[in-house]
Amino acid sequence: MRKVPTDRWLEIDIDAIKHNLEQVKSRLPEKVRLIAVVKADAYGHGAVAIANTLYQNGVDFFGVSFLDEALALRQARINSSIMLFTPLVHEEQVIRALEKRITVSITSPYDCHLLDVVSRRMNVKATVHLKVDTGLGRFGLNGDEAIEVCQTLQANSGIYIEGIYTHMAEAAANKKTYTRKQFNRFMNVIDELKRFGFKIPICHCANSAVFLKYPEMHLNAVRIGTLISGQLPAGKFVNKLELIDPYKFKSRVISLHTLDKGSCLGYNRTARLRKEAQIAVIPVGYNHGLAVQVANHPASWVDFLKRMTKSILAYFNLPRFTLKVKINGCEYPIRGKVFMQMALVEIPLKARVKIGDEVEVPVRKTLAAKNLNRTYLKSDKMEEQEQILYG
Ligand SMILES: *Cc1c(COP(=O)(O)O)cnc(C)c1O
Repeated sequence: MRKVPTDRWLEIDIDAIKHNLEQVKSRLPEKVRLIAVVKADAYGHGAVAIANTLYQNGVDFFGVSFLDEALALRQARINSSIMLFTPLVHEEQVIRALEKRITVSITSPYDCHLLDVVSRRMNVKATVHLKVDTGLGRFGLNGDEAIEVCQTLQANSGIYIEGIYTHMAEAAANKKTYTRKQFNRFMNVIDELKRFGFKIPICHCANSAVFLKYPEMHLNAVRIGTLISGQLPAGKFVNKLELIDPYKFKSRVISLHTLDKGSCLGYNRTARLRKEAQIAVIPVGYNHGLAVQVANHPASWVDFLKRMTKSILAYFNLPRFTLKVKINGCEYPIRGKVFMQMALVEIPLKARVKIGDEVEVPVRKTLAAKNLNRTYLKSDKMEEQEQILYG
């Protein structure tokens, strides 16, 4: 069957991923290992393609949240270390993880017991990292549990405790107090374990923000996702890296018509044209992740006020606060309510835009629809501009 073109697709620049990896490596001390985090489909870029690129460029350790993510990488013949950040609950999950040589996290006495029982029965080797909770309040062992777990696992000759790690709650924030407190708690747990005779080779606590801001916390490994995917963590940073965003959400103009000054736009008539203009329709709506926000509680009063101010300014259509798309290199604002599967774009009368023109849409990577076609762009010195489709 002939392939019918689609009006929504993602373009992922593989060279940008490589570039970002090199940037991270340039800050990585020699003895510090890189654990490349490719959870959530490599932050929307496509886990298998991104992991393959990283693997071919020397990355030998990956981190993901869930078992199915790890299995997908194995299926794609990524034979390096892959570690899981979340605990496994069912026996069958542990069996599958061990069969596929996935490095598991021990976050509680429950996990410890389950792994102990299953690995003895299967009579296989298992590699584990202990997860310590130092103040994120998600999951992890406390100091006493860490000792208890080490004692249990040491009695099992099939289990290798390769690592111990923790995760920071606000490393991107300006104030360093809490991050330092978490770090000290982590080091105390490690010291206490040493006193009990447990020396664990790989200690790690750095995500992208910690990696940039706290070189003294690199320890033996860093877990980096955000930087490789071309973004700085939210917050202020001095030691910036030169990163390239590899991600473009593309669509096309599917309709274009001129409307009079004063015309209403969209449901509930929330927008109205101040002058005659062209209205382009793009087939991208909130169903695809456009204008979708993560509805978290504001971090502070200041954060709350910032959000309020943004909403107010956006209400008055101030250019800096409206969503914009890019067509032929120029930016144009989205007007009116974003529809379920479409949105309206205001284009000045004189601008030259045609039906079928490509549109770059500001969809948040990790919230974009999962079923979009991804095109991976890769220019080699030999074959410049060649497009490689991984499917
Ligand atoms: C997502 C995640 C990371 C990576 O964090 P970035 O800030 O994206 O680099 C590291 N560790 C754990 C446990 C994570 O869940």
